[in-house]
Formats: sequence, structure tokens, C-alpha cells
Amino acid sequence: MIVVMKPGSQRGQIDGVIGLLREMGAQGRPIDGAQPPVIEILECNGKLDRRRLEQASMVERVVDGATPLLAVGRKAGEQTLEVPLGRRAVIGGQRLAVVAGPCSVEDEGRLLETATAVAAAGAVGLRGGAFKPRTSPYAFQGLGEDGLRALARVREKTGLAIVTEVMSPERVACVAEYADVLQVGSRNMHNSPLLRAVGEQGKPVLLKRGWSATLEEFLLAAEYILRAGNPNVILCERGIRTHEEYVRNTMALAVVPEVKRLSRLPIIVDPSHGTGRAHLVEPMSRAAIACGADGLLIEVHPSPEQAWSDGAQTLNFQQFRDMMTALRPIAAACGRSLEAGDSPPTDATDA
Ligand code: PEP
Ligand code: MN
Repeated sequence: MIVVMKPGSQRGQIDGVIGLLREMGAQGRPIDGAQPPVIEILECNGKLDRRRLEQASMVERVVDGATPLLAVGRKAGEQTLEVPLGRRAVIGGQRLAVVAGPCSVEDEGRLLETATAVAAAGAVGLRGGAFKPRTSPYAFQGLGEDGLRALARVREKTGLAIVTEVMSPERVACVAEYADVLQVGSRNMHNSPLLRAVGEQGKPVLLKRGWSATLEEFLLAAEYILRAGNPNVILCERGIRTHEEYVRNTMALAVVPEVKRLSRLPIIVDPSHGTGRAHLVEPMSRAAIACGADGLLIEVHPSPEQAWSDGAQTLNFQQFRDMMTALRPIAAACGRSLEAGDSPPTDATDA
């Protein structure tokens, strides 16, 4: 349990609450650097009089639970935060945002071809890793800054917002120079120096769930970014490791409505990494939209069988177009819409 003080509380008022806690048999400790000030209740041998605490001078509220979500939590009636995705789109509004592209940036020609195809089908963002977190040190590690430059040039030609991964605090400034949204990957969700570093810069952050992280750990990782000063975080469910072997990861879709209940942050779903199988991407995308996701992150490549990474879970252009067509009526049934793209609408409900 914690006590949240009102902004501008003075040391004397904080000490007053700690004294009051002591009278009730509890020990309070101010959390370093918290703004507004927060007092953690460490031990309680007596009975806490919550009403008395709430009435103390400058106390804002008393929050239950060991891990309060002060920054990312949703207050009653609060709308989902709308996070900018480049200059033309947002994630978290009525319109669903689809970000698509290759797992890794391989060369500018294929990147532009992919970007043009996904934009025509309705994607508003282009994904592609230039710094790749690979399991094996012998696997392709990405084109580095050359890849970022290619992404930025393709943005100029297509208008798509660029989403790309940053793996270390030292690279944050470099990636932020080119990207519209900085991705923190699954392997780095627990990397608090990186979370702070992306929190201290101004571009929105796409935070992927660690593959063994609980929902609470996921939301607390986002809390790090907001507390460092960056309000614009998009959560991304990308599957967790289980005993199951017919999929690469197990997509925990119940997280989507649960995040909607607990947090004001938007959440998108990545069924490419979430399943590891191209034929499961469309069905799980349909399910993601039906349970309230604010968008999708999808791997697309001109010829997935030749992709330098993650080919087995990657859609080709036709599969991506077919998927977008199949998603539109589901989005409409959920009161959402999808960018129409250039392909002819198949349903009267298309916006
Ligand atoms: C990716 O999106 O390219 C990626 C590496 O995903 P994850 O961090 O979810 O494994
Ligand atoms: Mn990938």
C-alpha cells in the first residue's frame, strides 16, 4: 500500500503522514525522487485507519496493492491514451493502427517494395529492425545505422511512420534521430537503464512484453518509461514462452482486455512473434481486434521463404492484403475502423 501526496507537499507534511503511520503501528518510507511525493507503507503491526490517513494534510489518495501503477493506471471513466504514430496517425483512438514490414531491414529496394505494398493495403506504420536482438551470435545482427537511414528514406517516399528497435541506452539518441517510434523488444523489457533512457527522450515508445514477464511486470516496465518523463508508451503483446511446441510463443490475448481495465495505455498485438507461424497470423489478428486491441504489428516480406530472419511467421503481400480485407468487418463490428488502403473495399461497412 502507498500514500500518494498532493503535488507541492512539503517535507513537514510528508513527515506528518509518516508520524501518523507510526501511531497506527506502521512504518512509512518516502520513495526517492517520486513526484508527486509517494510514501511506501513497509510494515504494519496495527490496524491502518485509512480514512484518517486520507484526511491528513496534503494526502491525495491511499492506493492498495504492492505495486501501484501511478503513471500507467486507468482512473474510472478515463479514455485510452492516444499515442502519435508519426505525423498522420495515432494508436489508441477509434481507428486501428496496423504497423507492418519485414523482421529485419535487408536492403532498401525490398524495404520500399514492402512499404508500398503494406501502405496500399492500409498499414499506417512500417516496421523493420536495423539493430536485431538475435538468439545466436552467428545470425544476422542487422544493418545498423545504414538500416535506419534506409527506413528514413522510405518514410519520405511512402509517408509511413517508422517503428524500429533500440537495444541499448547508448544507441537511443541515434535511433531516435531516424525513428518515429522506438521499439523496446521482448528481451529488453526488464532492462531498466534502457527503459529510463527511452523515457528521457521525446519519441513514443513501443514496449513489447517480455516472453516470461507477468502482466504486472509488463505494466511496471511501462511505469519506468513514464516516470522518466515520456508519456507516450504503446504496449505490445507478443506471446509468452510455455511448454507448448506447435507455436513459437503462446499468445496471451486475455492481457488485452485486462490492460484495458488496469491501464490507460494503448495496446497492440504482434501475432507474428506471438505464434511464429504465418498461417496463424490472420486468425489471431481477428481475435486480437475482437478482444479490443488498438492495432497490430505484422511481419511482411516480398518472399518470406527468403527472408533473413523470421520467414516462417512472415506474410507475403497477397496474404497481408487478404488479411486486411478480412479484418475490416471485424473492426466495424467492434466499433473501430481500419485505414482503407488502395484495395477495393469488400464490405459496405468500410470507412
Ligand atoms: C521484433 O519485433 O523484431 C522482435 C525481435 O520481436 P520480439 O522482441 O517480440 O522478439
Ligand atoms: Mn522478427
